[in-house]
Amino acid sequence: MKSFEPEQFRRLFPLIVSNGASNLSVDKAPSLVYFDNAATTQKPACVIDCYRHYYQNFNANVHRASHNLSAKATTAFEQAREQVKHFINARSIKEIIWSKGTTESINLIASSLGQRVLSSGDELIITVSEHHANIVPWQLIAAKTGAVIKVLTLDKNGRVDLSDFDALLSHRTKIVCCAHLSNVIAKINPIDVLIAKAKAVGAITVIDGAQAVAHFPVDVQKLNCDFYLFSAHKMYGPTGVGVLYGKQLLLESMPPYQAGGEMIEKVSFNEATTFNALPFKFEAGTPNIAGVLAFSEALTFLSQYSTAQMRDYELQLTHYCYQALANISSVQFIVEQVADIPVISFTIKGHHNHDIATSLNSYGIAIRSGHHCAMPLMEYLQISGCLRVSMAAYNTIAEVDYFIRCLIKILEPESTDSDQISVKTNSAEKRHSNSEASTEIIAKLSQVKGWDARHREIMLLGKQLPRLDKTKRNDHTLISGCESLAWLMASKNSQGVYHFHADSDAKVIRGLLVIVLAALNDKTAVQIQSFDIDAYFSRLGLLQHLSPSRGNGVLAIVEKIKEITE
Ligand code: PMP
Repeated sequence: MKSFEPEQFRRLFPLIVSNGASNLSVDKAPSLVYFDNAATTQKPACVIDCYRHYYQNFNANVHRASHNLSAKATTAFEQAREQVKHFINARSIKEIIWSKGTTESINLIASSLGQRVLSSGDELIITVSEHHANIVPWQLIAAKTGAVIKVLTLDKNGRVDLSDFDALLSHRTKIVCCAHLSNVIAKINPIDVLIAKAKAVGAITVIDGAQAVAHFPVDVQKLNCDFYLFSAHKMYGPTGVGVLYGKQLLLESMPPYQAGGEMIEKVSFNEATTFNALPFKFEAGTPNIAGVLAFSEALTFLSQYSTAQMRDYELQLTHYCYQALANISSVQFIVEQVADIPVISFTIKGHHNHDIATSLNSYGIAIRSGHHCAMPLMEYLQISGCLRVSMAAYNTIAEVDYFIRCLIKILEPESTDSDQISVKTNSAEKRHSNSEASTEIIAKLSQVKGWDARHREIMLLGKQLPRLDKTKRNDHTLISGCESLAWLMASKNSQGVYHFHADSDAKVIRGLLVIVLAALNDKTAVQIQSFDIDAYFSRLGLLQHLSPSRGNGVLAIVEKIKEITE
């Protein structure tokens, strides 16, 4: 086993090497600091290379053919399963089912186990800090079966509250669902106690290990859980591969989830179709062979290093970053005390999460803002969202220092910039013609080089947008994006000219709204419909910063404007 040397480890990740800098400076061109590892980690070269190697040397379908190539692919594929069995200390390879990821694993259990064990009035206990992936599949099956979901709350440190668990647990409890660690709170839940208590009333335990497996060893036999689920991509492996560990007896008792090739024993129109043995009963269709082999490569890669040393290093990063953030007076941590893995969630008093995340992005720092697919937790904590820094073993103390320096710079009171672009988009008394306003924006913004500086200009532009009266920021005018809120009001005069008022809770969105309204305000329906907004954003160099899937509010507003004027 190699001793874990952070700098050497880091050099094995091509994306980090080619985008990160060893000499980070607030005043230099931004280079990548990747702090979004809880969403997905970067991949080492050996995992990336594995794809080419597989497709070039032994691409064939598994389990199905009698030719050598298929035998070779099948052997490697099944060896990977064996490797996962050892990795989590399962009893048998029959207990290791491949899936697309944690989400699919949970959907499989909820659907298959749910239809077998749940009936009307039965109860499921789910913690309030679960990822949506460990909530919504259960809500669907509860609605179908008439089962009732009971929500387990947290103690003051953010771990599941065992006394609340005692109060919820009864002979009606059939299933208990809990994350080993929440992807926001990142404290190890007392799942050993939870599992033992659940067992005592005969309940089945489902543990979401998505955030655990990358950071410390997991022994499913020791835990004695019934199911344990995780994704390869959060532990240096590829996307699209996950694991469902389940106790053999339970898996055998469950009906198939998806149907098709591989999961059958015999198919007939004249007698009942019968199903394959475990684990294949739950693996319908051609699996993600290349992904499974790349995952196996990731496991081999990790097994070279001392887990204890890696964990020590990650905790060092966590404590260092936590302390540095704690020194900033406006930082408010989501829960008390430092996390158990390098994931730190917080908000900043007086600042919108989205503004902080986009400002950090302009320095090359990738962190996450929003609800982190844990809306019930946000509701419980009475916040609309939070910021999350999540690190991995290839991150460095220098990166933390750089992040903190940039954050402090962002939080400094803004200077009044006399050279600021001035656009009177919404002012009733002096409206520019829109072509004039949008041309002016294009001309001014194109003089500003680099996303960093452009981002600052956009934030300054936001100051020019008149606030929509509080009473008008309501459910009727709300257009919600994922990470921010935006409001829109429209009026039309007798000449058919539309005038819009828009607002947002995030400064950067307010700036972008100035840009949008400069193009679309005070125009007729025909003019609005024919305006090529994508080309406009593209000329401004903004297109890549407006993610349609995340719907950051601006695109939703554009859509709404087009809809109103259709
Ligand atoms: N559970 C937790 C705790 C997670 O953090 C995630 C990923 N953010 C998931 C489930 C879902 O994992 P995947 O998207 O890989 O299916």
